[in-house]
Order: sequence, then structure tokens, then C-alpha cells
Amino acid sequence: MEDGRRFHCPSALGFYGYLLDPISKISLAPGGLGAIYTPPLARLIEQLQRLPSVGPKTAQRLALHLLKRPDAEVENLAQALLDAKKRVGQCQVCFHLSAEPVCDICRHPQRDNSVICVVSDPRDVIALEKTREFRGKYHVLGGVISPMDGIGPEQLTIQPLLHRVSQPEIAEVILAISPSVEGETTTLYLGKLLQPFTKVTRIAFGLPMGGDLEYADEVTLARALEGRREL
Ligand SMILES: [Zn+2]
Repeated sequence: MEDGRRFHCPSALGFYGYLLDPISKISLAPGGLGAIYTPPLARLIEQLQRLPSVGPKTAQRLALHLLKRPDAEVENLAQALLDAKKRVGQCQVCFHLSAEPVCDICRHPQRDNSVICVVSDPRDVIALEKTREFRGKYHVLGGVISPMDGIGPEQLTIQPLLHRVSQPEIAEVILAISPSVEGETTTLYLGKLLQPFTKVTRIAFGLPMGGDLEYADEVTLARALEGRREL
């Protein structure tokens, strides 16, 4: 009864109900989203599904949500996508994301020029900036050394890093690379490479806040112990 009512209902929901009816439509579809949705909607859902963490259900929900929004709002979203893609590039100095040739952090007059924090990904810069603890500069490697994936030092921004670190004002380089196998390889490689130029430190890894000693894995616990400091 419910399906029949939706099928004949001329209201907005009825329209979507007709397109998305799970029993009468999807099960009969010979394959491909075009057979279930009207083609422009199928295309939108297909594109949304390409985004990380977006599965078919979320893609459908987002697409239907967008169709219900005012034209201006959807145009703003489309324009923001195009603008960000066109304008956001890399800072020439630290390789963080930037719409300017040199990013805000590198240009900031109050930030400490003598300390460089090395990270693998722009997301790490954002995470560290949110802590408001670090007032130095960054260097984004663009990945970690991973021979299995064909990523060697030459694929990362290590040459420009060496150039920066060889400047006389640099007093310390902090390596803040995630402790995976590849991350460790990268940290050790950079440590050896940079030590002749300056003091090289690495961030401590240990237990998360609210974490329980009992449930921590041995590597994390060993690291926490190794990175202990005086109270
Ligand atoms: Zn920068």
C-alpha cells in the first residue's frame, strides 16, 4: 500500500519515492545507476560516491539533499569547489596548502624562524596548528619514504628541506612523522641527513588522553616509556 501510494503521489516526496523505490525499481535494474535514477541524478551520485568515506547511501542522501536546496546555495557550493581546486596550491617555502605563493604561516612575522617542524601531510600542519602549541615554521614532505610504493627520498620535498635547514638561523628541526614502519624509516633517514646541520628532535609518542595503560599495545607503551620526562 505504501509503495502504491508513493508511486501515484504527485508531491515532491512521491517523485523521489518513485525513483528510489527499493523494491520495484532497484531490484529490476539491469545494472548501473542510470537504470535507477534519472541520468543527471545518476551522474551526481556517481561523482559524490568517488569522495572518501562516501558510500552509495550517503551519496544518494547528499544528492537528494542538494536537489532540494535553493539554486544559489548549490551554485555557491559548485563555485567553492572550482575556486578551491583552481586557487589552492603549495607554499613555495614549506609546501603547505596555500592560495598565495608563500603561505600565511611562513609569512607570519611573529613566528619563530629558527624551528622547523617536519610533517608528512598538510593535514598534520592543520592538526598541530589546532593545538596552538607550536610557534615555529613547518615543512611538508608530501608523503613518507615507502620503497614498496615506489616512494623514495627524491619523490618528497627533502632537497628543499635540506636547503632550508642549512640556513644559519635554524636552531632545531622537529620531526613529527606518524610512527608507522614507513614513518619510522623516514624519521631515521631525515635524522641522519639533518644532524650535521642542526639539532634534530622528534615528537614523543605515547598514550592518548583518557587511554588505559592496560589496553595500550607494546610499541606504544615502549614509546611512552622512552619519551618520559621529568616532572
Ligand atoms: Zn609556507
